[in-house]
Amino acid sequence: MMLKKVPIQEKELEDYREFFANDLMLEIKKLSESLSGKKIVHINATSRLGGGGVAEILHSLIPLMRNLKINAEWHTINPPVNFFEITNKIHNGLQGKNDKLTESEKKFYLKQSEIISKEIEKLNASLYVIHDPQPLLAASFSKKIRPAVSRIHIDLSSPNSDTWNFIFPYFSSYQKIILSIHEFINGNLPPEKVAVFPPAIDPLVAKNSPLKKEYARLVLENLGINPSQPIVSQVSRLDFFKDPIGVIKAFYLAKKNIPNLQLILLAQNLADDNPCSKKIFREVKRYTRGDPDIFLFYDPKEIKYDNDTLVSAVQTASDVIIQKSLKEGFGLTVAEAMWKGKAVIAGRVGGIKVQIRDGYNGYLVSTVEHCASRIEELLKDKSLRETFGRRAKKSVAKNFLIPRLLRDHLKIAGEIMKK
Ligand code: UDP
Repeated sequence: MMLKKVPIQEKELEDYREFFANDLMLEIKKLSESLSGKKIVHINATSRLGGGGVAEILHSLIPLMRNLKINAEWHTINPPVNFFEITNKIHNGLQGKNDKLTESEKKFYLKQSEIISKEIEKLNASLYVIHDPQPLLAASFSKKIRPAVSRIHIDLSSPNSDTWNFIFPYFSSYQKIILSIHEFINGNLPPEKVAVFPPAIDPLVAKNSPLKKEYARLVLENLGINPSQPIVSQVSRLDFFKDPIGVIKAFYLAKKNIPNLQLILLAQNLADDNPCSKKIFREVKRYTRGDPDIFLFYDPKEIKYDNDTLVSAVQTASDVIIQKSLKEGFGLTVAEAMWKGKAVIAGRVGGIKVQIRDGYNGYLVSTVEHCASRIEELLKDKSLRETFGRRAKKSVAKNFLIPRLLRDHLKIAGEIMKK
């Protein structure tokens, strides 16, 4: 079987009432009326929590759509593993890396996409929302997969031309392409087909629910970290674009002036569509030079806490959160940390730029040196950290919580299905 239906938990929109204004609730209810009973299918690569942002979003969005009486379903693709090695190259190429596909890789990707399309068409939905490049080609193999929306979560602003020339024609099978920020609409995407809205986080899931500071500190202490000494952390898959090596370099630089500084890299290997992470793990591990103040968490089997507890504890008990991405579609981790009232230092790239206003609710950086000096500055200034944190939480509350994202998805589904 090439498709797996993801079991959906129940969620009640009413439980989110405290997180949004009454008129947004009314708007959501109104938009959902014409979609009632309609089958809307979302398809992506993985449902594993912690496997990346898309799974995180769909675990919340699909239940809320169902709570509005929409027959929303979520399916993941289940191709042979080397499929994901190819789509990983495409992912990298679309974000500008020079990762070329061979002719035989293209052929294999096309063949598998055709097989996937035959299963998707059987779902007989009123609308198909296809996330990211992995299942993107499916719509071109079957006219029954209509209407279809392509939701791209990555940075398309400067792809490498080989990858782009290969992928671009396949967008023509889609009625709409959703991107996270305007800057990602690159040259030849037809602007009338593009809709832009950023993702959002769910304030009610365990990883975003407030942990008592004392408990969060205890969790870290149980993992060998000293919560009374300064801690900076990055929570991210091990991926070239998340720049884990850059984070370590910035840590070493800052440590020259703050000798008791500790670094947590929470990078659990939970995804099944990121085959390169082992290679990067070995490289990162080597780079830590056995430093006892660097805590790299990678293998979930070796860690005594579940993923949600760890994410929440690390984001709660760290003094500063880093997200030193070199490319970033949005960066849920940034919103998650800001929601916890943390000062975040993050790469001045992609979707991070719509979340952090530099010097107002966090810092944006472009180099290792700049990142290091911002770490030092924030660690020395508790009141600035608190000011940033307060503003950060407020801006997430206003812009990046799941009810707003639900509204945006309902709106676009309504527009397409009316046509
Ligand atoms: N994540 C996690 N455990 C980890 C590392 C990351 O649960 O050890 C989660 C993180 O909390 C976030 C998601 O993975 O919800 C990553 O989403 P983001 O948009 O930041 O990046 P992506 O991985 O999709 O590029």
